[in-house]
Amino acid sequence: MKFVKKFRVEPGSDVNLGSIDPAFHADYANDAETAQELQRNLTRITELQRKLYADRTHSLLIVLQGIDSAGKDGTCWHVISAMDPQGVQVTGFKQPTPEEKEHDFLWRVHPHAPRRGYVSIFNRSHYEDVLVVRVHKLAPKEVWKPRYDFINEWEKLLTVENKTTILKFFLYISKDEQLKRFKARLDDPANQWKISASDYSEREKWDDYIKAFEAALTRCSTEHAPWFVIPANHKWFRNLAVSSIIADTLDDLNLKLPKPSVDIDEIRRLYQQAKNQEERSKAG
Ligand code: AMP
Ligand code: MG
Repeated sequence: MKFVKKFRVEPGSDVNLGSIDPAFHADYANDAETAQELQRNLTRITELQRKLYADRTHSLLIVLQGIDSAGKDGTCWHVISAMDPQGVQVTGFKQPTPEEKEHDFLWRVHPHAPRRGYVSIFNRSHYEDVLVVRVHKLAPKEVWKPRYDFINEWEKLLTVENKTTILKFFLYISKDEQLKRFKARLDDPANQWKISASDYSEREKWDDYIKAFEAALTRCSTEHAPWFVIPANHKWFRNLAVSSIIADTLDDLNLKLPKPSVDIDEIRRLYQQAKNQEERSKAG
């Protein structure tokens, strides 16, 4: 199945999350049925990212958004970990600092855009400035409304000027799945550190968040920086879908390993020389 096509928000289309099933898992029944395919995707991602790194002409920006406990951290852990950490930078965006608040909303984000050859992962992102800011009225409408256009322009700048490929994943879980995950965190001492009281106050604003996500997905899915709505109730299906979209997108870049910058025949001669010397010294 081509997940790229299935889950991509067509630019210009109106997103209605009510019509999408967060528990969707295609023809796969369970974790075991996706394991092999997931592994194949991860291997492809490993190989393709090495080419991206060596080639140094393109870069990749992956944006992860979703309501609390939707699986942003888990996706980093299970999918992004296929990449060589040397070429990847993961940035989590928290509440802005006093200094950041005194700048435009993109000021703190831009330095984390990927340099050529690199992959940047945004765990939350500039979209918080049209999500939490809108839901909690942290800024008046006159301030957040123009941001959709600013975001589209800024993302375009990255793609045009720096050959950045942008993939934006909205990890979509249902409200009862969220409560199950909160319970699991509560029951697992290894995960209790992740709990905050705000999880519950944010949950009360579920409908407002859904509306804000729908607006962001509708207004900011563009040809140059598409959104994908990933049904994420099943973690194994989420990992499969995200990994497959990343692998297929990198594949389409037709990345090639650069030609060696040295004369390989000459280097072979040097190697032979070194080997002969080594053998002589061992014999003598
Ligand atoms: P977490 O990702 O769970 O560590 O939480 C980070 C918190 O920072 C979340 O509650 C976000 O909503 C909040 N946050 C991130 N970006 C912004 C922003 N631009 N304005 C206000 N809150 C933000
Ligand atoms: Mg949280």
